[in-house]
Amino acid sequence: MELSERDITYLPGVGPKKAEVLKKEINIHSAEDLLSYYPFRYIDRSKIYSISEIQASSAYIQLKGKIIHFETIGEGAARRLIAKFKDESGIIDLVWFKGIKFIQNKYKFNTEYIVFGKPTLFGNKYNIAHPDIEEFDPKAEITGGLAGCYNTSEKMKNHFLGTKAIQRIIQSTLTSFANDITETLPPSIMKRANVISRKEALLNIHLPQNLDLLKKAEYRLKFEELFFLQLNIQRYSKQRSEKVGGYVFSKIGEHFNSFYHNYLPFPLTGAQKRVLKEIRVDLGSGHQMNRLLQGDVGSGKTLVGLMTMLMGLDNGFQACIMAPTEILANQHYESIKAFLKDMPIGVELLTGSTTKKKREPIHEGLRNGSIHILIGTHALIEDEVQFKNLGIAIIDEQHRFGVAQRAKLWAKNNHPPHILVMTATPIPRTLAMTVYGDLDVSVIDELPPGRKPIQTIHQFDNRRGSLYASMKKQLEEGRQIYIVYPLIQENEKMDLKNVEDGFYQIQAAFPDYRVCMVHGKMKAKDKDAAMQRFAACEAHIMVATTVIEVGVNVPNATVMVIENAERFGLSQLHQLRGRVGRGGDQSYCVLVTSPKLSNDTRKRMDIMVKSNDGFEISEADLSLRGPGDLEGTQQSGIAFDLKLANLATDGQIVQLTRDIAREIIEKDPALNMHENQLLARQLRKMFSKKFNWGIIS
Ligand code: ADP
Ligand code: MG
Repeated sequence: MELSERDITYLPGVGPKKAEVLKKEINIHSAEDLLSYYPFRYIDRSKIYSISEIQASSAYIQLKGKIIHFETIGEGAARRLIAKFKDESGIIDLVWFKGIKFIQNKYKFNTEYIVFGKPTLFGNKYNIAHPDIEEFDPKAEITGGLAGCYNTSEKMKNHFLGTKAIQRIIQSTLTSFANDITETLPPSIMKRANVISRKEALLNIHLPQNLDLLKKAEYRLKFEELFFLQLNIQRYSKQRSEKVGGYVFSKIGEHFNSFYHNYLPFPLTGAQKRVLKEIRVDLGSGHQMNRLLQGDVGSGKTLVGLMTMLMGLDNGFQACIMAPTEILANQHYESIKAFLKDMPIGVELLTGSTTKKKREPIHEGLRNGSIHILIGTHALIEDEVQFKNLGIAIIDEQHRFGVAQRAKLWAKNNHPPHILVMTATPIPRTLAMTVYGDLDVSVIDELPPGRKPIQTIHQFDNRRGSLYASMKKQLEEGRQIYIVYPLIQENEKMDLKNVEDGFYQIQAAFPDYRVCMVHGKMKAKDKDAAMQRFAACEAHIMVATTVIEVGVNVPNATVMVIENAERFGLSQLHQLRGRVGRGGDQSYCVLVTSPKLSNDTRKRMDIMVKSNDGFEISEADLSLRGPGDLEGTQQSGIAFDLKLANLATDGQIVQLTRDIAREIIEKDPALNMHENQLLARQLRKMFSKKFNWGIIS
């Protein structure tokens, strides 16, 4: 029988009650599922710690000793049973919040126990909550090996499914059925990737014979996980590129050339030129372009977007650019109008606040082709917006848009337009490869000349005096300043209060300067008015929430003060910092935090102070937070779940799996060849129920 068909109910040591819990709590239904429930760490069972050795860094350990006392303390939810557990070196508290009676009856004084668990500091003493306990058996073989620790929920523990119990069930399953473990990789791939068999890997991930085999087992299982993910992505992107031919933009013409030679106010950077060439190749290729343009804040993506649209115009097509906020759409509109000056190109702006009266002629102009470039928010994907012939769509700061919205843009024509997605939120390479597969990526890795790197300073919030003094100096030199407060979504009133208090505080501290304010609760019209005042230098200080996070461009602003910086993620801090340093003057970013910092926050602040490199920062973000939390992954609609592989640290495996998957799909796009049947079957098994994100990207 295949392991995937073997119901866990009938595995040795399970039975209907436990099976029910395993199914509900951790979604384990079959022997196959059970064997893919990997330990999250290992304890060295050859070592028994003494209580006096315990330190803050002690992870999961085992102790040997006796319970000398029980007592129940606390009320309600805090009611708990405490056992004093003693060995030769000292005493530690074992704590239970549940099953108090049961525990107290089960364990006896004067019996030697082995206790497994993770000590945590409570007050100034260590304790172990809900430990696993077994009677010490002097005759039991000291395996000397590594024992897996499994995640277990409270409910599981209450049903005698603690980590030791899971260990036992897995062990007996392996003893009975190891020979039914089937291979998922053909020999050629195993050889190429130099991985051990699946059977050997599963045996050693659960019951490692030694550290070396554990490493090999991990490598094999990570490889498998990433390989099938890649194979799936490659398969769909191949299908897409074959099905969807692209408009061919065969020529560079009047618009592009005239702009390039007569209107461009400064030379393009090397990176901008390179990216434009890459785009040009795509547009002429006959395939639909699907390109992600990554460039750090201030690297000049808008201009690249504009020149890409001009290529479309030269070939008789319309173009559009979609921004996530009204402020940004406005700003693109203003800067594109300024770039194009008197060139005979119809440019219009369409946002949620465009009046009905203005909309009519815009709709008309789009249908008859007199409008060549449309700039807007998601208002431009509404159904009544119809183009004559949309050839290229640019999406700015894409992580704000969901897959569904992008799909809608696709559907604007009977033929999908070329798509260029611009983002300043750098997606780490490994993540981009895993999430987007073959979405082509261009990178602007060079800032326009003359920019000075932003200096970042971390300052505690009890030193406002010196902060205000340095702000004043900048103001006296004619510069402008942003002050940003975090949004705490659970409590909008508080948010508003933060910003408003800040506003009055700053007004009082800088009576000679004009202060304006922007926050999410303001009407779009008022927000824009305040932004405009700041952009025109009529206001010197802008107090704002994160609404200014993306895209806003005021080169004269040189100071970014971020209040409660501990509340922001790294990528967001970097985005905010990118609002300054956009002109030729030295700019500063001040991260204000409380002096009491968690380790994590301290790390984040240190990275910000040390690095100005968006890629480095997003890599650090990935390893601090994990990809699930990373901005962009959730919205992109990809809920993949990696059990062992870690995108932050397993980049090499990602690369290898991608190369191999690509070669296979190149040769056999539908996986019809005899030698690929194993792979085809495994893919069906893994992905049949899931959404095929490769279709849209
Ligand atoms: P982002 O990549 O963050 O969207 P922008 O497109 O807003 O950056 O560009 C930032 C600023 O740099 C703008 O004022 C833009 O006009 C200017 N800029 C763009 N390209 C160049 C260049 N090659 N040389 C000098 N300045 C440039
Ligand atoms: Mg931009």
